Amino acid sequence: MTPHPCPDLELLFTELEAGEGPSLDHAAECEACAAILEEHRLMEQDLYRLADPLPPPSLVANVMARVAAEPVPQRREVWSGVAILLTSLLGGLGYLLMNDQALGRLGTQVAAFMVEGPQFIDGVLSGAHALWATAGLAVASFLTFLLLTSLYGLKRLAGGVPTPSEA
Ligand SMILES: [Zn+2]
Repeated sequence: MTPHPCPDLELLFTELEAGEGPSLDHAAECEACAAILEEHRLMEQDLYRLADPLPPPSLVANVMARVAAEPVPQRREVWSGVAILLTSLLGGLGYLLMNDQALGRLGTQVAAFMVEGPQFIDGVLSGAHALWATAGLAVASFLTFLLLTSLYGLKRLAGGVPTPSEA
Protein backbone atom coordinates (compact mmCIF):
# COMPACT_ATOMS: atom_id res chain seq x y z
CA MET A 1 0.00 0.00 0.00
CA THR A 2 1.17 3.54 -0.82
CA PRO A 3 1.37 6.15 1.91
CA HIS A 4 -1.02 8.44 0.07
CA PRO A 5 -4.28 7.52 -1.66
CA CYS A 6 -4.26 7.63 -5.48
CA PRO A 7 -5.22 11.08 -6.73
CA ASP A 8 -8.15 11.86 -8.97
CA LEU A 9 -7.18 11.09 -12.60
CA GLU A 10 -8.25 14.55 -13.76
CA LEU A 11 -5.92 16.12 -11.20
CA LEU A 12 -3.14 13.72 -12.19
CA PHE A 13 -3.41 14.66 -15.87
CA THR A 14 -3.64 18.35 -15.05
CA GLU A 15 -0.39 18.07 -13.14
CA LEU A 16 1.06 16.04 -15.99
CA GLU A 17 0.33 18.99 -18.32
CA ALA A 18 1.87 21.37 -15.80
CA GLY A 19 4.87 19.10 -15.38
CA GLU A 20 4.83 19.10 -11.58
CA GLY A 21 2.61 18.54 -8.56
CA PRO A 22 1.98 16.24 -5.62
CA SER A 23 -0.07 13.83 -7.75
CA LEU A 24 2.89 13.41 -10.14
CA ASP A 25 5.15 12.83 -7.18
CA HIS A 26 2.69 10.18 -6.03
CA ALA A 27 2.59 8.58 -9.49
CA ALA A 28 6.40 8.29 -9.44
CA GLU A 29 6.06 6.09 -6.38
CA CYS A 30 2.78 4.35 -7.24
CA GLU A 31 2.80 1.48 -9.70
CA ALA A 32 -0.90 1.81 -10.57
CA CYS A 33 -0.70 5.55 -11.29
CA ALA A 34 2.52 5.09 -13.24
CA ALA A 35 0.73 2.50 -15.38
CA ILE A 36 -2.15 4.94 -15.98
CA LEU A 37 0.28 7.70 -16.94
CA GLU A 38 2.16 5.35 -19.30
CA GLU A 39 -1.11 4.31 -20.93
CA HIS A 40 -2.08 7.96 -21.28
CA ARG A 41 1.32 8.77 -22.80
CA LEU A 42 0.99 5.99 -25.40
CA MET A 43 -2.58 7.02 -26.26
CA GLU A 44 -1.48 10.63 -26.65
CA GLN A 45 1.36 9.51 -28.88
CA ASP A 46 -1.11 7.66 -31.13
CA LEU A 47 -3.37 10.71 -31.27
CA TYR A 48 -0.46 12.94 -32.27
CA ARG A 49 0.52 10.43 -34.92
CA LEU A 50 -3.03 10.49 -36.33
CA ALA A 51 -3.26 14.28 -36.27
CA ASP A 52 0.33 14.90 -37.39
CA PRO A 53 0.14 17.26 -40.35
CA LEU A 54 3.77 16.67 -41.27
CA PRO A 55 4.14 14.00 -43.99
CA PRO A 56 6.69 11.24 -43.53
CA PRO A 57 10.02 11.91 -45.26
CA SER A 58 9.27 9.20 -47.83
CA LEU A 59 5.97 10.79 -48.85
CA VAL A 60 7.29 12.66 -51.90
CA ALA A 61 9.04 9.58 -53.22
CA ASN A 62 5.91 7.49 -52.61
CA VAL A 63 3.68 9.99 -54.40
CA MET A 64 6.05 10.25 -57.34
CA ALA A 65 6.17 6.46 -57.62
CA ARG A 66 2.38 6.29 -57.50
CA VAL A 67 2.03 9.01 -60.15
CA ALA A 68 4.51 7.21 -62.39
CA ALA A 69 2.67 3.91 -61.94
CA GLU A 70 -0.77 5.39 -62.57
CA PRO A 71 -2.12 5.37 -66.13
CA VAL A 72 -2.72 8.63 -67.95
CA PRO A 73 -6.21 9.98 -67.21
CA GLN A 74 -8.72 8.11 -69.33
CA ARG A 75 -10.28 11.22 -70.87
CA ARG A 76 -6.97 12.35 -72.34
CA GLU A 77 -6.47 8.87 -73.76
CA VAL A 78 -9.91 8.97 -75.36
CA TRP A 79 -9.15 12.26 -77.10
CA SER A 80 -5.77 11.00 -78.20
CA GLY A 81 -7.39 7.90 -79.70
CA VAL A 82 -10.16 9.95 -81.33
CA ALA A 83 -7.56 12.28 -82.86
CA ILE A 84 -5.69 9.31 -84.33
CA LEU A 85 -8.90 7.81 -85.69
CA LEU A 86 -10.00 11.13 -87.24
CA THR A 87 -6.58 11.67 -88.80
CA SER A 88 -6.72 8.18 -90.26
CA LEU A 89 -10.24 8.70 -91.62
CA LEU A 90 -9.37 12.12 -93.12
CA GLY A 91 -6.26 10.61 -94.71
CA GLY A 92 -8.31 7.81 -96.21
CA LEU A 93 -10.94 10.27 -97.46
CA GLY A 94 -8.25 12.48 -99.02
CA TYR A 95 -6.70 9.50 -100.77
CA LEU A 96 -10.08 8.40 -102.13
CA LEU A 97 -10.75 11.93 -103.45
CA MET A 98 -7.35 12.01 -105.14
CA ASN A 99 -8.07 8.57 -106.52
CA ASP A 100 -11.40 9.83 -107.91
CA GLN A 101 -9.51 12.56 -109.76
CA ALA A 102 -7.20 9.95 -111.22
CA LEU A 103 -10.22 7.88 -112.22
CA GLY A 104 -11.75 11.01 -113.79
CA ARG A 105 -8.62 11.59 -115.90
CA LEU A 106 -8.77 7.95 -116.89
CA GLY A 107 -12.40 8.43 -117.97
CA THR A 108 -11.40 11.43 -120.14
CA GLN A 109 -8.67 9.37 -121.79
CA VAL A 110 -11.12 6.53 -122.38
CA ALA A 111 -13.56 8.99 -123.99
CA ALA A 112 -10.80 10.41 -126.25
CA PHE A 113 -9.76 6.95 -127.37
CA MET A 114 -13.39 6.03 -128.02
CA VAL A 115 -13.74 9.09 -130.27
CA GLU A 116 -10.65 8.05 -132.23
CA GLY A 117 -12.09 4.65 -132.91
CA PRO A 118 -13.66 1.53 -131.52
CA GLN A 119 -10.51 -0.42 -132.36
CA PHE A 120 -8.78 1.27 -129.41
CA ILE A 121 -11.42 0.24 -126.92
CA ASP A 122 -9.92 -3.17 -126.23
CA GLY A 123 -6.47 -1.68 -125.62
CA VAL A 124 -7.89 1.09 -123.46
CA LEU A 125 -9.91 -1.37 -121.44
CA SER A 126 -6.88 -3.56 -120.81
CA GLY A 127 -4.91 -0.43 -119.86
CA ALA A 128 -7.71 0.61 -117.53
CA HIS A 129 -7.73 -2.86 -116.10
CA ALA A 130 -4.00 -2.61 -115.39
CA LEU A 131 -4.51 0.81 -113.77
CA TRP A 132 -7.35 -0.58 -111.70
CA ALA A 133 -5.12 -3.40 -110.57
CA THR A 134 -2.37 -0.94 -109.58
CA ALA A 135 -4.80 1.45 -107.91
CA GLY A 136 -6.51 -1.47 -106.22
CA LEU A 137 -3.19 -2.58 -104.78
CA ALA A 138 -2.49 0.96 -103.59
CA VAL A 139 -5.95 1.20 -102.02
CA ALA A 140 -5.49 -2.16 -100.38
CA SER A 141 -2.11 -1.07 -99.00
CA PHE A 142 -3.58 2.17 -97.74
CA LEU A 143 -6.56 0.43 -96.18
CA THR A 144 -4.14 -1.89 -94.37
CA PHE A 145 -2.24 1.15 -93.09
CA LEU A 146 -5.57 2.74 -92.13
CA LEU A 147 -6.60 -0.40 -90.25
CA LEU A 148 -3.29 -0.53 -88.40
CA THR A 149 -3.44 3.13 -87.36
CA SER A 150 -7.06 2.70 -86.29
CA LEU A 151 -6.09 -0.35 -84.26
CA TYR A 152 -3.29 1.70 -82.71
CA GLY A 153 -5.87 4.34 -81.80
CA LEU A 154 -8.17 1.73 -80.29
CA LYS A 155 -5.26 0.22 -78.43
CA ARG A 156 -4.47 3.64 -76.99
CA LEU A 157 -8.13 3.97 -76.01
CA ALA A 158 -8.09 0.64 -74.23
CA GLY A 159 -4.52 0.31 -73.00
CA GLY A 160 -3.83 3.55 -71.18
CA VAL A 161 -0.18 3.63 -72.24
CA PRO A 162 1.47 6.83 -71.01
CA THR A 163 2.69 9.14 -73.77
CA PRO A 164 6.35 10.20 -73.80
CA SER A 165 5.32 13.73 -72.77
CA GLU A 166 3.49 12.30 -69.76
CA ALA A 167 6.46 10.24 -68.68
ZN1 LIG B 1 -1.51 5.83 -7.11
